[in-house]
Amino acid sequence: MCGIVGYIGEKCNLKRVLINDLKTLEYRGYDSSGIAIYDGNMKIVKSKGKIAYLEEQLESIKINDSNIGIAHTRWATHGEANDVNSHPHRIGCVTLVHNGIIENYSELKNNLINKGYVFVSSTDSEVVSALLDDIKKSEHDNLKAISKLIKMLEGSYALGIIFDDDYEHLYAVKKDSPLIVGLCDNCNLIASDIAAIMDHTKKYMLINDFEIVKLSKNEVQVFNSELSLVNKDVLEVSWDINHAKKNGYSHFMLKEIHDEPNVLRDTIIEYIKDTDTLVNKMPDFSKYNKIHIVACGSAMYAGMVGKYIIEEYANIEVSVELASEYRYKKNFYDHNTLVIFISQSGETADTIAALRKVKKDNIDTLAIVNVVGSTIAREADRVLYIRAGMEIAVATTKAYLLQVAMLILITLNIAYANKKLNRDELDKILVEFGTIPNAIKDILDRKEECFDIAKTLYKSKDIFYIGRGIDYALCMEGSLKIKEIAYIHSEAYPAGELKHGSISLIEDKTNVVGIVSKELLSSKTLSNIEEVIARGAVITLVTTDDLEDNFSFPCQKFVVKKVNDIIQPLLIVVPLQLIAFEVARIKGCDIDKPRNLAKSVTVE
Ligand code: GLU
Repeated sequence: MCGIVGYIGEKCNLKRVLINDLKTLEYRGYDSSGIAIYDGNMKIVKSKGKIAYLEEQLESIKINDSNIGIAHTRWATHGEANDVNSHPHRIGCVTLVHNGIIENYSELKNNLINKGYVFVSSTDSEVVSALLDDIKKSEHDNLKAISKLIKMLEGSYALGIIFDDDYEHLYAVKKDSPLIVGLCDNCNLIASDIAAIMDHTKKYMLINDFEIVKLSKNEVQVFNSELSLVNKDVLEVSWDINHAKKNGYSHFMLKEIHDEPNVLRDTIIEYIKDTDTLVNKMPDFSKYNKIHIVACGSAMYAGMVGKYIIEEYANIEVSVELASEYRYKKNFYDHNTLVIFISQSGETADTIAALRKVKKDNIDTLAIVNVVGSTIAREADRVLYIRAGMEIAVATTKAYLLQVAMLILITLNIAYANKKLNRDELDKILVEFGTIPNAIKDILDRKEECFDIAKTLYKSKDIFYIGRGIDYALCMEGSLKIKEIAYIHSEAYPAGELKHGSISLIEDKTNVVGIVSKELLSSKTLSNIEEVIARGAVITLVTTDDLEDNFSFPCQKFVVKKVNDIIQPLLIVVPLQLIAFEVARIKGCDIDKPRNLAKSVTVE
C-alpha cells in the first residue's frame, strides 16, 4: 500500500530514476504521487492519479542533474486524493515523504498552529514536516532532531527526509510501515520494498522500527532511537528481476497464474524432496491441541482450506479468524495453542498487530509469509517461507496457492506425527503432490474453456459460489477474486445454508458457480444445486473427473483431474482464478491494479 523511494548518490537525471523506481511500486496501490529533487533549488511536483500524470507535469519543469531526491505514491488516509495533499510535504527546512498514519496528528497540529505554522493540506504527514521543522529550531543536529521527533509521534510511519542544511545526506526512519535501504557502488537508496531497488542493486538492509538511517553517496549509517550505531546485515535479493516484469504476458496476474507450476515445484523441492525432508523441515507441532489461523483477505481463505484439512487429517481443532477482528477481541488460547499468521507481504498491518498481541501473551506463533525478512517473518517465533517470488498483481494467485500448499504440508506433517497417517499413506500422497505442477500446467493450457465460461458470466450483477466443506472454503476465494478484479457482487455460501435465507436472492438467470470436488459431499451439494436450478439459476460447475458423470442437469463445466482429497484444492482453485481473470479482461477492468485496492495493506 503506497510507497516511498529516496536517492542519494552520483549526479544523474534523477527525475528519470525516481519515476522508474516509483513505477515499480505502483502495484502496491496508490491514488496520487509526487517527487522532490534538489538541483540547487528544491523542486517539488505532485499529481493526483497515475504516475503518468506526474510524468506529464515533470516534462514542463526544468530539473538539472541532481544527487538527492525523494518520491512517493500516496494511498490517501487523511484528506482526499488531490495535488495539494500529495507528498512530498515541505515546511521550513524540512521536505519529506510519509507512508502510514500519524494517530496524534490533530493534537500536534493544534500546537503547531498556535506556534504560527500554517498548513495547506489536510494530511497528517504535513504535520510531521512542521513538527520536525519546529524541533530543528532548537536542535541543529539532524539525527538528534529525528530522535526527538519519533518520541512525539504516535502511529505508523516510514519517512524519507531531506533537510535544507544537509543536501549531502538523506535521512529515513520507520515504525510499523516497511522500509529498506538499497546499497550500490555510486548511490544509496531508501524504499518501501525490494521492487524499487532491483534496477540498481541486489544488496539491501532491512530497517527495524525506530531505527534512524543516515545515507550519503557512499555510506549508510543506521542508529537506534538513542543514536547508538547499529550493526546491520547486508542481505542479497534472491528473486530474479524477471519477477518484476510481465515477460510477454498481457497482465501480471496472468503471468503469476502461469508461474504457479514453477513456484509449486520449488516448494516441492524444498519441503518434500522425500518424506524425511517433510518431517525434518517442519517445526515440531506435537504439543499443540488447538490451532488458530489469523489472516486477512485471500490469506484468510487459504486458512479456511487449512482448517478443513487440519481438522480432518490431523485431528486438531482449528479456528480461522480475521486479523482485524482478532486483534481487538477476546481470544481463547493457552500454551498448547499454536497461532499461525498468514500474509503474502509479511507487512499486513492488522496481522502484525494480532501477532504482537499473541506474542505479548507468550503464545507460540508461526508465520507463513512470502517476503523474506518482512516484519511478520521477523517477529513470529518461527517462519515457513512460501517462496512465490515477487507477486505484483494486487489480487493474489500464486501466493494463495502456495499458502494452501504450505498448510497441506503442515497438515501432513502433523497427521504423520500423530499417527493419523502411516508412512505408506504419506509417501503415496507426497508422490501425488509431486504431479500437481504438471496437472496445473494442463489446466493452464485450457484457458479457452475459462474464457468461454467467462463470456457467460461477465454481464452478471451477482454471482453466487456454493460448495460444502473444503469446497466452500474454495468458493470464498473464487468469489473474492471475481469481486476484487471484475467488480461483480458475489457471495460464497455453504451449499446447505442457502435455503436458510439467501436462496431468496436466486431468480431467473442468476449465475451460480458450484464447486464439487469431494465425493462424500457431492450428492448433498448436487441436491442444493438442483434447488437453485429450480429457481432459475444458471450453473457453472467446477468439479473433478471422477464426479463429472454424476451431474445430469444442464450446466457448463470445468473438470479437473481427481487427486487425493487433501491436495485437490491446488487444482480446483486454478480455474477459479482464470475465470475471474477472463471475466475482468472482457469487462476491461484494470486487472493488476483494481480500484481502491492496495497490494500490501499496511494501514489499519
Ligand atoms: N497518511 C498519509 C496521507 O494521507 C500518508 C498516506 C500514505 O501512506 O500514502 O497523506
